[in-house]
Amino acid sequence: MIWNLGSINADNFYLLPHLPGPGETISARDFRQGLGGKGANMSVAAARAGTRVMHVGALGADGGWALERLLEYGVETAHITLMEGVTGHANIAVDLEGENNIVIFPGTNHEITEEMIGAALSEASSGDWLMMQNETNGQRFAAQTAKTLGLKLAYAAAPFDAEAVKAIIEQIDLLVLNEVEAAQLRAATGGELRQLPVDDIVVTLGAGGCEWVSNKAHRIESYPAYHAQAVDTTGAGDTFTGYLVAGLDRGMTMPQAIDLAMRAGALMVTRHGTADVIPDLKEIRDHDF
Ligand code: ADP
Repeated sequence: MIWNLGSINADNFYLLPHLPGPGETISARDFRQGLGGKGANMSVAAARAGTRVMHVGALGADGGWALERLLEYGVETAHITLMEGVTGHANIAVDLEGENNIVIFPGTNHEITEEMIGAALSEASSGDWLMMQNETNGQRFAAQTAKTLGLKLAYAAAPFDAEAVKAIIEQIDLLVLNEVEAAQLRAATGGELRQLPVDDIVVTLGAGGCEWVSNKAHRIESYPAYHAQAVDTTGAGDTFTGYLVAGLDRGMTMPQAIDLAMRAGALMVTRHGTADVIPDLKEIRDHDF
């Protein structure tokens, strides 16, 4: 089972004739609200991959719809706290050429207490996974608690913050980075990924596939991506990570889990949207890669 301490955002999309300049007011031509946030995306991906996922997070009183949508997608929500305050959200302005600018407000994603995390993880079993990304507070406490309880820790270092990674690096079993984050981590630690105290590091390379740095086996393996006609790469990394951890949780080997995660990532980039369009196992099986 996976316990995901993760962000939940409302993604508010506004279609504009052009992006606003300073002081300009523009009326949007269309509006759409989707479920997003790296945490929610990863929970949905892992649930779509057929594993039990308990999302640990927080929503404002305006976030009931997000809770319902997570449930609909198969994510367990008993440890999502509805509280005072505003649900995290991203206001995404998109112009007719597809250029965008984005304002993010973390809201209740930064109001998660140690009591909430502790109460959730006290129900976990040794051998379960704790999954995290860097869009909530409470990561250091969660990582320490997870280790005390014998959980494995998977961490996606996004959005990248060197201090946040360094604070929990000793506890991480599986670290997932994209190409940019990997370069940032190398710069911050002044060394190579294979010198980090983490058993497994997976670096995703977009259409270039991914690389698995196995520090246990002292080996680096490269995997080419599946071919995809990309129209929107948002959420590909989150989908990849959710599927990867779900695969491992279901007993797959790392190469098997990577293969499944790359199929999910390749299918995801052919779709517009985030959590709402993450493919399930059947769609992946039925797709001709
Ligand atoms: P992020 O969104 O975090 O930057 P990536 O863009 O590296 O993550 O994508 C994650 C994974 O999704 C890749 O490792 C790859 O397997 C798959 N993927 C992403 N973009 C493509 C693409 N254009 N074609 C095929 N697969 C892709």
